[in-house]
This record gives sequence, C-alpha cells and structure tokens, in this order.
Amino acid sequence: MYPVIKLKPGKEESLLRHHPWVFSGAVASLPENLEEGDYVVVTDSKGQTLGVGHYQIGSITVRILEFGVDAISDDFYFKRLSNAADLRLTLGLCRPDNDCFRLVHGEGDFLPGLVVDIYGDTAVMQAHSPGMHFERNTIAEALTRLPQINIRNVYYKSETTLPFKARLDPHNDYLIGGFDGNVATENGLQFNIDWLKGQKTGFFVDQRENRALLEKFAKGREVLNMFCYTGGFSVYAMRGGALSVDSVDSSAKAAALTDANIALNFPDDPRHTTHAVDAFKYLADMPKDRYDLIILDPPAFAKHRSALKNGLIGYRKLNAKAFEKIRPGGILFTFSCSQVVSREAFRLAVFSAAAKSGRKVRVLHQLTQPADHPFDISHPEGEYLKGLILYVE
Ligand code: SAH
Repeated sequence: MYPVIKLKPGKEESLLRHHPWVFSGAVASLPENLEEGDYVVVTDSKGQTLGVGHYQIGSITVRILEFGVDAISDDFYFKRLSNAADLRLTLGLCRPDNDCFRLVHGEGDFLPGLVVDIYGDTAVMQAHSPGMHFERNTIAEALTRLPQINIRNVYYKSETTLPFKARLDPHNDYLIGGFDGNVATENGLQFNIDWLKGQKTGFFVDQRENRALLEKFAKGREVLNMFCYTGGFSVYAMRGGALSVDSVDSSAKAAALTDANIALNFPDDPRHTTHAVDAFKYLADMPKDRYDLIILDPPAFAKHRSALKNGLIGYRKLNAKAFEKIRPGGILFTFSCSQVVSREAFRLAVFSAAAKSGRKVRVLHQLTQPADHPFDISHPEGEYLKGLILYVE
C-alpha cells in the first residue's frame, strides 16, 4: 500500500479532468516520512481514490501516473512505453531513412517526468522527477524489450534535469550497453548526435518537420541560420538547393557540431560557412539585403513566468533586426520554445516588430511541435514550440 495524500475539499476537480499535476496548495495533509520519489495514492477530501503518482517537493507535489487506481501494475512502464512506440510507428517515424525521434514526451505520453529520445539503436533518457530517477533501471530494461523498436543501448542523462535540492546525485552514464556510434538519420540526412556533451539529449528532434518545410523554401536562396546548434536547419537548406548557407551560434562547440554535420552530408561544399559569434552582434554587423531566408530559433528567452516580460522584449528585438535586414521577397522562419510564452503573445511580439519595421509582412505558415511531442488535451502546459513562416516584401 502506498502512502495517501489527501486533497482539500474541491481541489480534486482538475484531477477528475485528468490534469496530471497536484499542486502543493491543493494538499490537505502529507503523510509522515514521505521521501521524494515515493509512490503515493491521491484521494479527494472524502477519501475517494483519484490516482497514483510520484511525490516530490516543490510547487508540483504529485505527478499522477495513472488515474482511478490505488497501485500501478508490474508492467506499467513497459505498457506505457509500448503505447508510445505504437504511436511513433503510426506516425511513420521508424524508417530506414529516419531513426531519430522522441519516443517519450513526458505528460504527453502519460509518463510525467520522463523524456526518451531515440537515435538509431541508442535511447537517451532524461528524468525530470525523482520518481522517474528511481525507476531508471526498470525503464531502461523495458526499453530494450520493446518489440516495435530495436534499442540496444540506453544512456541516462539527468544531471541537469533533476531538482537540485533532491540530492539524488544522478550520474550520466549508460544503464544498458555502451557507445556504438552516434550517427542518426533524419529524413535521409545524417547527424552526429552528441548525447555525452551536447544540450538536452544531444539534438533538437522537435524541429524535424519545420526543417523539412525549410528545405522546400531553400532553393536558390541565401540562407542565414541563427542559433544553429547542430546545424539542423542548415543541412536541410543545403539539400534544398540553397545558394549559400551561413550558420551562427555563440558557442564554439555548437559551431564545431554544425561543421561536422555539414561535412557528413555535404563534404567540401563551399556553399556553407559557420560563424561562432553572438547572434545580436552578427545581426547588427551584417549588411542589409544580404539574406533572403533567415531562421531565428533562439534558446527559450523566458524560462519562467517571472522572465516573461523581458523574454517578450527579447523576441521583439530579435525579430525587429531580421525585418530590418532581410532582402525584399525574403522568408523568415521565427520560433519560440519558451513554454510560458503563449502562441498569441509570441505572435504579438513578432507582429509588433514587423509593424515597427514598416515592411509588408504576411504569414505563410504557423508552426508547432511535431507529433512525436504530443501534449495531453488535459495538460495544455505540454504545448511549447511555436513558429511562424513569414513573407517579407
Ligand atoms: N536551431 C537549433 C536549436 C537551437 S538551440 C536546432 O535546430 O537544433 C539554441 C542555440 O542558441 C544554442 O546552440 C546556443 O548555443 C545558441 N545561443 C544562445 N545564445 C546565443 C547568442 N546570444 N548568440 C548566438 N547563439 C546563441
């Protein structure tokens, strides 16, 4: 039997709608000796069971794993992972020319606190909750048993994703298998994935479909890929027939990753150049009309609600520079991956930058996160990636 967390009267409503988070303010009382990561049963104020979840300290006190039960079954993780794999098969993401996708997107795959990205036969796993950290070996073992995908190596990478105060001392390492190559294929293009030292799980899988769209716009264009990281957009622009591609990132490591990925797909192709400089400096220094296809995919400018105002100012300034400099007839791909910035707020920031520039700007496409990053309709917080493709006259 798991310890029981009782909610205050009326605080069960969001759980009845299957929103998976219990906030600390909703909790009537906590049982004694509760440890972070413990399984708990959550009940309403009358003792009626609402579901089972992982307990943690913080504003989110419980992340519900399963509703309407008072214990999870032995094969819980295997079943949830298998459901996630079925969805990726349905989406057509497991193909000889595409072996790189997100298998588990936390709450969006009913596994709150867990992220798993697949790169060939290696799964890179991140725990965002102590509960998932404690289950890491069970999850790793279940991953290798999935009939839908052949996973031989599981790398655990949670040093930076777990709550610091939990003192879990997670260690980044292989839980199963080891290093046997790190080249993954996305839509027929090859990428070196640096899960050991790279950001997140090593690659931004979430831009796959937006990169594919960019490829269609690239022919004959002079492309600037700002905040390039691994050069994903640049590699697609090259295949799309761009005249030239400049990739910019302030991190020398990212610039080296981009160079390596260009070399992997387009060795000795003189169309591509990497610049390890600050994006704002590059935009300020570059001549007007130099580019007619610009990608702005910055890191989250607002990581928390408290940073929202400054984040929006950042998006407005960045986009204003692009509108000021892009060649007439140019196309701008602009993104925000800040979860706290709503689609409307981002659009407003970009539209006000456009208005200020005096350019005539039309929206060609509105972009979002791909289908392997689903969000539960009961958990709208799962939506984070927003983008616009704009035609600038
Ligand atoms: N577009 C990338 C992901 C971008 S991640 C892709 O498709 O994979 C954000 C990147 O912005 C990081 O690589 C980070 O090094 C870089 N970055 C952060 N601040 C920057 C700045 N001021 N100037 C240039 N690059 C910056």
